[in-house]
Amino acid sequence: MKKLIFFSALVFSTSLIFGQGGQGGQGGQGGQSTRPADPNRMTPGMTEKWDPEVPIIQPGVTNSDPPSDAIVLFNGTDVNSEWTDARGNPTKWLIKDGELVCVKGSGVIKTKRKFGSCQLHVEWKTPSDVQGESQGRGNSGVYLQELYEVQVLDSYNNRTYRHGQAGSLYKQHAPLVNVSRKPGEWQAYDIIYTAPTFGKDTTVYLTPPRITVLHNGVLIQNNVILRGPTQYIGIPEYFVKPHGPGSVVLQDHGNPVAYRNIWIREL
Ligand code: MG
Repeated sequence: MKKLIFFSALVFSTSLIFGQGGQGGQGGQGGQSTRPADPNRMTPGMTEKWDPEVPIIQPGVTNSDPPSDAIVLFNGTDVNSEWTDARGNPTKWLIKDGELVCVKGSGVIKTKRKFGSCQLHVEWKTPSDVQGESQGRGNSGVYLQELYEVQVLDSYNNRTYRHGQAGSLYKQHAPLVNVSRKPGEWQAYDIIYTAPTFGKDTTVYLTPPRITVLHNGVLIQNNVILRGPTQYIGIPEYFVKPHGPGSVVLQDHGNPVAYRNIWIREL
């Protein structure tokens, strides 16, 4: 009987040290068992994972330049290879001195490719010739999956409703701060977007879309949840319906807002 008790105790203590699967302490494979080892008897290697190695990519020359795994959507020379108008035809937006400029009345432009979760870099500039006020001054927008707008607006000395100014998730979330540059100066958005998922109930999200936005390098949207597609009039929740990947869309709001250096990384 004593032998049995001793043997059981030995097995139990061994499982504590090495974990249930007995994999602990095997080079870099430690820490994978379901049972925690006794921390007082662990070695550093038991919690070090080596494989798979993290993918290696090349960074841009500056943090604004596309890294090697990015898809360049606009580099200053060509718009038609990656973008169309809303109907799939060549856009009437103009390229001038490397800038892609919205032409009033020509409608949105959208990427030919469709995306889900992504990291998106967009640089934009509102006109130095300041005209209009509130939502009428330097208005455009960056839509994720064709449905969710990150507002582009001249918000330098230009009050409007707080969740409609530059960097807002239009009519849902105001930016944390207003870090707008002057009209005529280039600004940047770095957007991290998590696409929603859908379950059997198609009128609500299983997991909602989430967005983080840096405006000119400053965090202005911190992983916020979207309630539904962007609406000018109406309650976003009422417009939820299942969707897959979608285009990145740039809005024509009647103002000659310019864009440059647009790139995206699929996540
Ligand atoms: Mg807009």
